[in-house]
Amino acid sequence: MSAMEYEPVIGLETHVQLKTRTKMWCACANEYGSPPNTQVCPVCLGFPGALPVANEEALRLTVLTGLLLHCEIPSFAKFDRKNYFYPDSSKNYQVTQFDRPSTKNGWIEFEFDGEGSADGIAKINITRAHLEEDVGKSTHFDRHSGVDFNRAGVPLLEIVSEPELRSSEMTYAYLKTLTQILARAGVSDCDLEKGMVRCDVNVSVRPKGEPRLGAKIEIKNMNSFSGVRRALEYEIPRQIAALKRGETLRQETRRWDDESGITEPMRSKEDAHDYRYFPEPDLMPFAPTEDWLSSVRARVPELPLDRKRRFMHDYGLPDGDAEFFRHNIELGAFFEEAVKGGGAAKPLANWVINNITGSLAAHSTPADKIPFTPAHLSELTNLTGSGKISSKIAQEVYAVMWETGEAPTSIVNRLGLLQVSDTGAVEEFCRQAIAALPGPADDYRKGKVAALNAIKGQVMKLSKGKVNPQLAGELLEKLLRGS
Ligand code: ADP
Ligand code: ZN
Ligand code: MG
Repeated sequence: MSAMEYEPVIGLETHVQLKTRTKMWCACANEYGSPPNTQVCPVCLGFPGALPVANEEALRLTVLTGLLLHCEIPSFAKFDRKNYFYPDSSKNYQVTQFDRPSTKNGWIEFEFDGEGSADGIAKINITRAHLEEDVGKSTHFDRHSGVDFNRAGVPLLEIVSEPELRSSEMTYAYLKTLTQILARAGVSDCDLEKGMVRCDVNVSVRPKGEPRLGAKIEIKNMNSFSGVRRALEYEIPRQIAALKRGETLRQETRRWDDESGITEPMRSKEDAHDYRYFPEPDLMPFAPTEDWLSSVRARVPELPLDRKRRFMHDYGLPDGDAEFFRHNIELGAFFEEAVKGGGAAKPLANWVINNITGSLAAHSTPADKIPFTPAHLSELTNLTGSGKISSKIAQEVYAVMWETGEAPTSIVNRLGLLQVSDTGAVEEFCRQAIAALPGPADDYRKGKVAALNAIKGQVMKLSKGKVNPQLAGELLEKLLRGS
């Protein structure tokens, strides 16, 4: 028994607060940070007789999420009441979607190296993503407790994964990617500090090779992704050690204590609620039309990983460059425009990633305020590519472009920076350089090949960097050998 190897199985229920202007069923603001109970009305406080009206934008964001997660969008979904009593829920029920959710059977892909991934990519199936409403927030003072209902009725999306995550690291990568996708699509700000993402982690362990799942332990109360990771790093060895001691694990809910770094029992299956779900009688089922669905489809942005792959495939960029553009949307658009302008992709990527990023940071300029156009950058790379200016001069031209927004060709002409490729003119610079450095010239003649660099440097100095360096090298060799 003790020689047996165990593996963890993890499934996540992630609650994400939707980025709507108003709450799910009423016109109260969906805003963070207002004084307690200032964003409430009879509907979100659950006064008898108050009637809910569904927030269409929340429905759109739900379907948008379904599309981003490759889910089916059933033609019929409905809302249900989940009944329970708790001080932070004055209605005594929460409206959610029980057996007919708005989206189901999808998947998510993310970069991850380790158990359960192939070629650096992990793929996890998504069971469902359903809409529900948030409840109030209790605060406990010395002698009394208070409830703030500002958050009650705020739209939440619960995204449920299949039990396919294989480690704490993989779970962390899953959460990072999921929230990045949702934030970029405008589904949610996913601000953890403001409690906009909360997740329950379900974890069990089983002997390696065992097809059946072990007893599910649900962990609550993590308030950061690293909290989730730490909770799993504690919980997985705890469960394995218990099995190795010959104990039997039972389904239960445990609470993560961030300070002490442990999980402790909260409730067992025996205390499980019977929520008495029934269809919400005050709300229509949700049956989206084809037109409505296509208007949501039009809002689906490119997934970050797809974008990275496209930058590698379409532009032949290395992994690191593509990774940069996966995160930097505006600079990516600038780069793509510049490529359209006829410049070569790799040099353009270098300019954007090194120079432009550096200049933006140095001038505290936002990425949409680059002082020259993508076409100008394209022109600059073509000037170096065709040998009209050296790469050193290109840096000077770039600096002027940043100052004036002028086109590179006009800067080059105005400042007389065209590379000197005229043999006669270059030869003249070479003769002067040899005359100025008789020592290194002698060394070179005696066979010290490296001495040529000093003389070449002198040529560049005399010509202010405008001489074609390759041509200068060739001519210097000829002159030194010939004389
Ligand atoms: P419940 O009905 O108690 O909510 P579900 O079967 O709906 O349980 O699963 C809730 C979450 O727990 C899902 O993310 C699922 O992947 C995960 N899960 C279910 N069973 C297990 C298990 N044995 N070990 C780990 N995770 C599990
Ligand atoms: Zn309200
Ligand atoms: Mg469930």
